Amino acid sequence: MFQSLPPAASDPILSVAEAFRNDTRPHKLDLGIGVYRDAAGNTPVMLAVREAERQLLAQQSSKSYVGLAGNPRFNRAVEKLVLGDAADTAAWVSMQTPGASGGLRLLADLLVSSRSGTDRPLPRVWISDPSYVNHAPVMRAAGLPVEHYPYLDAASGTLRREAFFDAVAGLGQDDVLLLHGCCHNPSGVDLAAADWQRLAAMVAKQGFIPFVDLAYQGFGAGMEADAAGLRLLADASAEMLLVYSCSKNFGLYRERTGAAMVKAGSQAVAAVRGKLFELARRSYTMPPDHGAELVARILESSELTALWDEELTAMRLRVQTTRVLLTQALAAQGVAADYLCTHQGMFSMLPLDGKAIAQLRDEAAVYVVAGGRINLAGLDTARIDELALALADVMQV
Ligand code: PMP
Repeated sequence: MFQSLPPAASDPILSVAEAFRNDTRPHKLDLGIGVYRDAAGNTPVMLAVREAERQLLAQQSSKSYVGLAGNPRFNRAVEKLVLGDAADTAAWVSMQTPGASGGLRLLADLLVSSRSGTDRPLPRVWISDPSYVNHAPVMRAAGLPVEHYPYLDAASGTLRREAFFDAVAGLGQDDVLLLHGCCHNPSGVDLAAADWQRLAAMVAKQGFIPFVDLAYQGFGAGMEADAAGLRLLADASAEMLLVYSCSKNFGLYRERTGAAMVKAGSQAVAAVRGKLFELARRSYTMPPDHGAELVARILESSELTALWDEELTAMRLRVQTTRVLLTQALAAQGVAADYLCTHQGMFSMLPLDGKAIAQLRDEAAVYVVAGGRINLAGLDTARIDELALALADVMQV
């Protein structure tokens, strides 16, 4: 059966993690996988999560199935985080999913289903260049055609604004525009408020479907500010797709806690819900409950919400401080990288080619993802100067 199985494609991020694990040099430094670490290099369980977990252990009376949409209290709570307290959610359908990854696939399957039995072409999904490594593979695996729009100017670490808007100007009703809600992965380059406004006007006029991936809410400028742009799109669009991750902002990575949301218009809500149930049923059926129950408990308790908010703020501030310290340390080595302080979230892209990345790994035991992505949230404060020295060796001075 499996003799002629083609070799598996290697994942650019997980393969860096594996190479790092196998490196026996004690001074090795991992800037690869997107996981937050505190100043001592640990990825702790958040205190609010621990407390919610303690309560859950004491109170949970059943492990019976929950349902195809997952935890309904979690879904309502995420709708509020994303759309705001005052939002009218009647036009939206929300499903808890196994991480945002599960949500991406579920919504890709929904897009394919939306055209079955019609003679309309499958929608094209437009993905930023560069984008999260798994966006294109997940869309393609569902059968959707993928296109790329210009986004990052690698040399200056800024948005290719006019090229981006020129590409968006060509989109119509058969196009889906996949955007990062905040903290763009891998570049850290986010749209400005004026860009979101411009996009909202274009959506209203051209009728393409916005698809927002919000995996880092709270890591950019704050919980509300990080959702402000997508809320403009939600107001301007009759239909919209969104995936949400609690991996980073609740530190629930392995619990696989996320959501998929669809603005369907009140006429189509029931049909969309039914189709999402069918699609979930024939793949994972139901998402794991543990992480979602913890998020629901945290957001339903004002004390736990305050504790979680304090911890998330500390994480955001630590990453922002790391950006400043690395920029200063690079400047001291003669490398100008002020763009690092204009970026948001855990990642930035450094202008590093394959040779520079290999040299960093072989000579300095520094692990960077192909393309030059570094995870600033993984950086031990005490090792910033050492990293700046290694980077200065391979970056043009
Ligand atoms: N989207 C983006 C932009 C991501 O960076 C990631 C990885 N954290 C995901 C989706 C998948 O997240 P999850 O762990 O919730 O599946």
